[in-house]
Amino acid sequence: MTTQRTALVVDDDPDHVSMIRSLLEKAGYTVTGETDSLLAMERIEALRPDCVLLDIMMPNLDGLQLCQKIRANPDYAAIKVVIVSAKPYEFDRQRAIRFGADAYFIKPIEPRPFLARLEEVFQDTLQVRFWGVRGTLPVPGPHTVRYGGNTNCVTLHLPKGPMFVFDAGSGIKNLSDHLLAAKKFPMACKILISHPHWDHINGLPFLVPLYIKGNEFEICGANQNGISTRQMISDQMDGVYFPIRIKEFSARVYFRDIQEEQWDVGHGALVSTMLLNHPGICLGYRVDYGGRRVAYITDNELHPPEHPHHNPAYLRKLVRFVEEADMVIIDTTYTDEAYVRHAGWGHSAPRQVAELAHQARVKTLCLFHHDPDQKDADIDAKLAQTRAHLHRLGASCDCVAPAEGSVITL
Ligand SMILES: [Zn+2]
Ligand SMILES: [Zn+2]
Repeated sequence: MTTQRTALVVDDDPDHVSMIRSLLEKAGYTVTGETDSLLAMERIEALRPDCVLLDIMMPNLDGLQLCQKIRANPDYAAIKVVIVSAKPYEFDRQRAIRFGADAYFIKPIEPRPFLARLEEVFQDTLQVRFWGVRGTLPVPGPHTVRYGGNTNCVTLHLPKGPMFVFDAGSGIKNLSDHLLAAKKFPMACKILISHPHWDHINGLPFLVPLYIKGNEFEICGANQNGISTRQMISDQMDGVYFPIRIKEFSARVYFRDIQEEQWDVGHGALVSTMLLNHPGICLGYRVDYGGRRVAYITDNELHPPEHPHHNPAYLRKLVRFVEEADMVIIDTTYTDEAYVRHAGWGHSAPRQVAELAHQARVKTLCLFHHDPDQKDADIDAKLAQTRAHLHRLGASCDCVAPAEGSVITL
């Protein structure tokens, strides 16, 4: 695909300038090269390029100082700033992002991923990927090939900043394989744990980037009545239940205990949490970024109005939490019929989730956390059931049941 974009490449190494120039020109960019960083601001003023690619280690004015100068001028706010450096250190990457860079690429450059990542910088899209959509227990086999048999794991990629991982069920192995193949290390990641039931944490030891030096992880979850998130993870890796202990993580791993709160994670992203209706302490998450909203709500029971435990105040609170979300990933473990037999088990069914989506004016509803006894055809039926409820309610919400491996872009 060709583009009409313009780029300024600033690097004191003329060979690098010409290499990046030829790569970008082949992709349709109009490119200007500059080997003297002191002249870069003049060039930007004259050219007003769509993007500026900056080396870090340049005499006189380094790339990070240049990045700061560009970001100090509001007239240049639309210009994408990409650092292209041989420095592979997380410290430098984080500093660059803090100074306002849109991305940090590490040399040597491989043409195809380089152009793909640069395209992502322009797209400003959010990407949600489903690595495991089942609840309770992994269920591989001939009846689960379409939706997949792995338990809860979903990622959210923003144009910049850390990757978010919602839960660490067995689907996280797929994510791990994907990250190893992509080789985009060092990486920064926030793992947001809903609660410590097995299907939400027992894949974590299989996330290989945790054992790779230079990567950085923050593992967040609710303190379970005195059991911290750190203890919850380390207890399942105590040498008895798993042979590798958390002290063998080579990445920098931080733990954070959270309750209902909201925090700014930087890069324009705001994370909010809400306590859900499920045995023990379970958190739902919401990420707001660039006018878009994604919520991850599992495990959660919404009692129907005729049930004695129906709680209108809780429903109102949850409606507010997910209000006008672009996407809500929601516990829809049972069919309406099966829910009657499983009321009080902490999970929901199509009628209730459709009502929630309707009231909250959700744009896309993703059915999630499927019962291990359900075959692919049962999930099809649950999807049809939810869509029928939404239709009856007159909701304009789009409803899908994402399969393992699927990607939705917002
Ligand atoms: Zn679960
Ligand atoms: Zn649970």
